[in-house]
Amino acid sequence: MDTVKAIISARAVERIKAGHLWIYSSDVLSCDAMPGAIVAVFDQRNRFAGMAFYSSESVIALRVLTGKEGEIGRPFWVGRLNQAQALRQRVVAGTEMYRLVNAEGDGLPSIIVDCYGDVLTLQTLSQGADRIKGLLVEALIEMLRPRCVIERNDAKVRELESLPLQVGVLHGSCPQELVCQENGLGFHVSPAEGQKTGAFLDQRENRWWARQLAFGQALDCFCYAGGFSIHVARSCTQVEAIDISEEAIKSAKRNAELNEVRNVDFEVDNAFDRLRLYDNLKRRFDTIVLDPPAFAKSRSQLAGALRGYKEINLRALRLLNPGGLLVTSTCSQQVDEPTFLNVITEAAADARRRVQVLQKRTQAQDHPFLLSMPETLYLKCLFLRVID
Ligand code: SAH
Repeated sequence: MDTVKAIISARAVERIKAGHLWIYSSDVLSCDAMPGAIVAVFDQRNRFAGMAFYSSESVIALRVLTGKEGEIGRPFWVGRLNQAQALRQRVVAGTEMYRLVNAEGDGLPSIIVDCYGDVLTLQTLSQGADRIKGLLVEALIEMLRPRCVIERNDAKVRELESLPLQVGVLHGSCPQELVCQENGLGFHVSPAEGQKTGAFLDQRENRWWARQLAFGQALDCFCYAGGFSIHVARSCTQVEAIDISEEAIKSAKRNAELNEVRNVDFEVDNAFDRLRLYDNLKRRFDTIVLDPPAFAKSRSQLAGALRGYKEINLRALRLLNPGGLLVTSTCSQQVDEPTFLNVITEAAADARRRVQVLQKRTQAQDHPFLLSMPETLYLKCLFLRVID
């Protein structure tokens, strides 16, 4: 592949020097590369700034791969994949499902690989990543000898790149369903179906901690396939788990059966309604888990999202017995940690509860984020305890 040049503004050069990996199209002064090409990036005085994926469609026109000049070929990709794998070998234990490659967080922009035992799912979310799909699959096969590699390119963000949404088998033959261990518990996984490749792997360490700290009567409000519920069931006397999706509750029940967990009641309901009802009924719990979907998907939704977070956290705090535990999360990238803490502080004040912070946590270590790129940190998870 011939290397083509892109010229960027001084402002964009500063951004890259500060460690950011994205250059917006408004900062690209010239580039006549093919969609998805790897380009050498220069400033207006022809000083080299980095090598990057070029996208002809997205507002993120360039994604920096490295600050070093030179050809980006197979050895580069294999090196980055090996580095990603070396990290997982250190931070993932007792678990068969985890994120092997976390895009920008692993210096592999717009590339995501999840492992479900010996089944791999791959997402190539930009034109550049999509163009090297074949090479990535080959490298992954060589590295891990997986049973199969599935393309989970049904993520909406691909539309921003004018890439088709598609799911398919790229290698081997794909089981419709398999069972994978997470923290020593079994979960059914459908690698080619389900939200976000079937599991919310980013909460794994938080689920482990929830299990350590949970007790008594528990309520899990956005339970999906039972990730938190089944973890805390091991330490609680009784768990009520609700989700608005019937599909989710069906999978959660199957997962509970698989683990011979009998102290969880799963029900389809709206968490907002259920929390309000229990507040009116003066029901009390010792442990509550709130892991809602992202209420803010863009800046314009922020105010409404904050009202939503405040509402559920306020109700949950009112429902807790003194000494009770609240595990509360936001996966909205727009809501940073200080903002989230602020919302919870307001909720606690309105609920007239005094609250201790036991842990401020984030996405699991197999979802590393970049120090220099706040966009890569999206999950905030607080472990709180009500004093009185
Ligand atoms: N805690 C889960 C992941 C939760 S994902 C885990 O550990 O795996 C968010 C879930 O919230 C989805 O399953 C979605 O169906 C559910 N949900 C969205 N809005 C809801 C609402 N108003 N009430 C209850 N559940 C809701």
